[in-house]
Amino acid sequence: MSNEKEKSLGEQLREQLGYKTKNGVSVMSAEEVAAADAYCEGYKHYLDVAKTEREAVDEAIAMAVAAGFVPFDPKMPLKAGDKVYLNNRGKALLLATIGTRPITDGVTIAAAHIDSPRLDLKPNPLYEDSELAYFDTHYYGGIKKYQWVAIPLALHGVIVRRDGSVVSVNIGEDDNDPVFCVTDLLPHLGQEQMKRPASEIIRGEDLNLLIGSRPFKDDEGSDAVKLNILNILHEKYDITEADFLSAELEIVPAFKAKDVGFDRSLIGAYGHDDRVCAYPAVTSLLAAGTPEYTAVAILADKEEIGSEGNTGMQSAFLRYFIDDIAAAFGEKGHHVLSKSICLSADVNAALDPIYPDVMVRSNAAKINHGVCITKYTGARGKSGTSDASAEYMAKVRGILDENEVLWQTGELGKVDAGGGGTVAMYIANLDVDTVDLGVPVLSMHAPMEVVSKIDVYMAHKAFLATMLRK
Ligand code: MN
Ligand code: MN
Repeated sequence: MSNEKEKSLGEQLREQLGYKTKNGVSVMSAEEVAAADAYCEGYKHYLDVAKTEREAVDEAIAMAVAAGFVPFDPKMPLKAGDKVYLNNRGKALLLATIGTRPITDGVTIAAAHIDSPRLDLKPNPLYEDSELAYFDTHYYGGIKKYQWVAIPLALHGVIVRRDGSVVSVNIGEDDNDPVFCVTDLLPHLGQEQMKRPASEIIRGEDLNLLIGSRPFKDDEGSDAVKLNILNILHEKYDITEADFLSAELEIVPAFKAKDVGFDRSLIGAYGHDDRVCAYPAVTSLLAAGTPEYTAVAILADKEEIGSEGNTGMQSAFLRYFIDDIAAAFGEKGHHVLSKSICLSADVNAALDPIYPDVMVRSNAAKINHGVCITKYTGARGKSGTSDASAEYMAKVRGILDENEVLWQTGELGKVDAGGGGTVAMYIANLDVDTVDLGVPVLSMHAPMEVVSKIDVYMAHKAFLATMLRK
């Protein structure tokens, strides 16, 4: 302090009275920055092994089981310190650690989603054209279609045969695996294509995955390349063409998570939205020990297409789970939910100085400025959002500040610039105090999204501090 110049009254007042976020590097110790970097090594591994909702569930269960979690049985007795998980159809997951307080004091929820924008195979995907074999696709979630051509793609998912037996597919991730791709038109012949609006440069029906080119030998049929692919699939997986009808096959970028920048401060990867909150939701629960309030981590499916269906957050599976936990203590689920709080753990857009026009700087999240609290999402006049109360915002602010969590606030862009939603409103609709809190992302929904390591670590700290509230 001694060599610091004395601050003027104006400077002092500005510090006391104003609100200004800071870059984590300027307020964190070197040790804490190193801890953030170390934490993100685990996160990068999760990104590489959990590119689909099914893989994200499997990996989270492996982490939880290693920490002593056991499958939840609605009839099991529960006591403080018990750690349980409920696997919802392999595509969504609930994890809970029973707290020391009465269950009717409410629970603490961190709710992330584990589905990401991608290309899905159509139910009848395989076809041949001009002696090339393709999978026909139907995109999932909000993508810029032109970003998905001419990049290496991997195929993940399951094929369920008529007898119920399951084939797991994961091709394109191992260094020795082949990859797939969607081809684009060469610029030499792209004059007319480049005049189309960006939303039509690549059309949805043009997103066809190139999967082979050699015909079946000794066959003169018009579909010998397709036949050869069917033969390879039959030999490798013991499936026939009809088995695609009962499959969920997802096409995702084939590259691994990588540090970005000379300073290695950022991570570039597919699927940050929303693994960048799902992973911290799990790690914070594992780190929370036995909290006072029962802590719940949710990894939900189908957020990118509206949270519909029995694995999405509009489903009753969370309500049933809370009902069952309450019943184990002789209580009613809605009495638990009404006293509960939730961090809807989802990403927000980071300020991108290349595209400043869509943001208002004073209400935009910045890379390295910490985890972002988003009071409301939605579009136009706050349509499609739960809009957290002032009281609950104050409570969350208090928890984060007391625990030295670096945080900031951000809107999803300018008013009327567009918009989007999260699972927040579906949990708030259960009479739970809910606010969005998550990591700012650059290039959201692109095949390679970018986040800051400091911000990822602060998401873990934020969920942990909230789970450990007194
Ligand atoms: Mn999201
Ligand atoms: Mn999204």
